[in-house]
Amino acid sequence: MLSIAEGPRTVLVPGPSILPDRVRSAMQRPSIDIYAGPLLDVTARCERGLAQIFGTSAQVFIYSANGHGVWDAALSNTLSRGSKVLVLESGRFAIGWGEMAKPMGIDVEVLRGDWHQAVDLSALGTRLAQDKSHDIDAILCTQVDTASGVCNDIGSIREAIDAIGHPTLLIVDAVASLGTMPFALDDWRVDVAVSASQKGLMCPAGLGFVAAGPRALEAHETANLRTRYWDWSARSTDNHYQKYCGTPPEQLLFALAEAFDMIDEEGLPTVFARHRALGQATQAAISSWQEHGARANISNPDHRANPVSVFNLPDGLAEKIITFCRDQCGVTLGGGLADWAGRSVRVGHMGHINAPTLLGAIACIDLGFRVFGLTAQTSGVDAAVRSLEQSESRTP
Ligand SMILES: *Cc1c(COP(=O)(O)O)cnc(C)c1O
Repeated sequence: MLSIAEGPRTVLVPGPSILPDRVRSAMQRPSIDIYAGPLLDVTARCERGLAQIFGTSAQVFIYSANGHGVWDAALSNTLSRGSKVLVLESGRFAIGWGEMAKPMGIDVEVLRGDWHQAVDLSALGTRLAQDKSHDIDAILCTQVDTASGVCNDIGSIREAIDAIGHPTLLIVDAVASLGTMPFALDDWRVDVAVSASQKGLMCPAGLGFVAAGPRALEAHETANLRTRYWDWSARSTDNHYQKYCGTPPEQLLFALAEAFDMIDEEGLPTVFARHRALGQATQAAISSWQEHGARANISNPDHRANPVSVFNLPDGLAEKIITFCRDQCGVTLGGGLADWAGRSVRVGHMGHINAPTLLGAIACIDLGFRVFGLTAQTSGVDAAVRSLEQSESRTP
């Protein structure tokens, strides 16, 4: 087939996501005073936006860091050498967080799950009930895991912990999910939540965020893994320079403030509904590809994530489709991670994404199947369009 890849490249990997022109323009500026003036207002704007999107009146911290960096921030501010964490497996990312905790001297136990479903709440309850001496200091889990495409119900995880009466901290990775679905740190009594700039928040990578509730701040007082760069106490100050433990990432902060303006203009409920509709449309396309051997990675529709869809294909077809879309159509899709390498396709639909972008990518996958000799009665685009038509009728 003739290559039709020239033109703007569409990058639909599950992070970094598409940068809006407004966000890029907001960064095009000279550096300014880091001690006084407009930058202080930009920080205040970003803190306000973060508190709103984390669903909290608790304190938020902004770091020059990516998601892995704020994993470190969450652990080092609340735990000590010899502390124990229970990692809830539902994909790759909570496991990776646990792997970062080990060399810090933290005892890491994994509650095994699989990559096809959300965390098993009854298994969690059973494990916590066994822990009579309350050795487990913190639970690490993801809201959305971008390797498996699962979405965990954080409110229910909190209820499962409360049902046992276990005092563990609940520490949640919202890197992929923040800005694509609700998060309610206060209502769910999440103790620490972390996120980053380059996924639902439509910015370049380089900013990491932490929201810390009252029990986390209490644990912080005696945590001995604290280091000066990540330290919440050192950053809890009106001294703007100390808030960032050094030079603030100025242009990225202007980018984030602009992204929050865009989110406010669209309205958070609309932002979430758009992500849900696009996620469901992608899943509808995946169902239509069943006759080519496609399987949605997460079987229960209630546990599928708004910002990313993952599906599996047999016989090397995943690699062929990804390569075809990239080289022949100008669409970059994500491949499988870890054990899923070569088996999965991951479609990111987070942040600055609308119908033509997503439908275009789905059409390219349809085209790929045809080029590889797999023709079908209905196309993925047909199925996605039908799904979007129905989602519209449910919106007032
Ligand atoms: C992307 C991602 C991370 C890692 O973020 P980096 O900025 O790449 O370090 C962590 N958790 C989840 C769920 C992610 O999707």
